[in-house]
Amino acid sequence: MQTGLPAAEAQQIILEAVSTLPAEVCAATSAHGRILAEAVVSKRALPPWSVSAMDGYALHAADLDSKDALEVVRENAAGSVPGDPILPGQAVRIFTGGPLPPGADAVARQEDTEAGDGRVRLAVSVPSGDNVREAGEDIAVGDCVLEPGTRLGAAALGVLASVGRSTVSVVQAPRVSLLSSGDELIEPDGDAARGRIVSSNSYSLSAQVDEAGGVPLYTGIAADTPEALEGMLRAAMTSHVIVSSAGVSVGDRDYVRPVLEGLGCELVFWGVKIKPGFPLVFGRFGECGPFVFGLPGNPVSAMVTFEEFVRPALLKMGGHTRLFRPRVRARLAKSLRKAAGRMHLVRVTLERRGDEIVATSTGNQSSGVLRSMAKAQGLLIFPADAEALEEGAHAEVQLLDPAFLAEIDSGL
Ligand code: AMP
Ligand code: MG
Repeated sequence: MQTGLPAAEAQQIILEAVSTLPAEVCAATSAHGRILAEAVVSKRALPPWSVSAMDGYALHAADLDSKDALEVVRENAAGSVPGDPILPGQAVRIFTGGPLPPGADAVARQEDTEAGDGRVRLAVSVPSGDNVREAGEDIAVGDCVLEPGTRLGAAALGVLASVGRSTVSVVQAPRVSLLSSGDELIEPDGDAARGRIVSSNSYSLSAQVDEAGGVPLYTGIAADTPEALEGMLRAAMTSHVIVSSAGVSVGDRDYVRPVLEGLGCELVFWGVKIKPGFPLVFGRFGECGPFVFGLPGNPVSAMVTFEEFVRPALLKMGGHTRLFRPRVRARLAKSLRKAAGRMHLVRVTLERRGDEIVATSTGNQSSGVLRSMAKAQGLLIFPADAEALEEGAHAEVQLLDPAFLAEIDSGL
């Protein structure tokens, strides 16, 4: 087992170990945010035949040379069939989405006409093709409308539905068992006597799994005994990934590592040179078994190690190709100091000032202060070897808050 790895190396080991999960068929109504595992080829054209883009009159543009009014022979509403061809001097009353009759090649907008007594007269000229949506203009038969690897967002789901698909093949979403360990932990409605604290990690980590496209499966709180931990880990074995928090350091009651080994888990590494979050363990149960992330227990350490190491792995397993948060360059509002050796991920708020982004520490960076994580819009990277970042200097920030990018784009 390797220990004390630089963050980038640990990330690389994890991403080389995990692979994209196989496909599954899913109802289109449940496919939002999933990654497409097939090429969607249309068996239909859209629109299926040429239709009107306006309410008005379908006509043959060449007929408009005549000064006479056109005879209105029938009505083609949306959902009707094109019907018989129109003859020279004839028009068809038509509504948006209504099929063009054979022989018509343009639609005069209702507001450009005068109609009465079964006839219509035009106030303006209408070139051929005006206000017509040609058959297959959006989608032609045989078009590949969605490529494998596409993330199924709102528009893609609309395209899928429009070619008649109610089910779709997508990359499986990783199932992630979440377990907490510690005799001090209770559920939120538990008895807080004797200084017991709520297992908040279950809540933060569950939301983080969800946000990374995984399916969180909460198994509960294990007591600080090898037997309790082993029972809970065994129950989690059918998921793709097991994420535990706490009990992974060097204390006498930190049983996660020995229990994992006892169950046959290969511990790939323990300890990553970052702060918060040094005591992270990554392991795997053979080729087919679940991957295991034993995260540190402190709430901020658990969230940050999830961000850096579990999130990219879940995204890769779920078929995503963009595995990392966007980064911005920010100027430091105040200088920062630390000892060389570990990369610090400093919780910061961000503010746009002119052309620049200014990063300010959220304050107390203790790994127990979860509120400062809740405030943070980004994690500022204070490189492992550096001891100081001076006020006004620039640093990279991983954006935790996607809304901040939107603010930058709109210039707010
Ligand atoms: P440990 O890794 O077991 O030494 O835990 C480190 C710190 O994290 C201790 O102060 C624990 O009380 C706290 N902690 C452990 N698990 C959780 C949890 N699920 N939710 C909130 N705090 C926790
Ligand atoms: Mg503990």
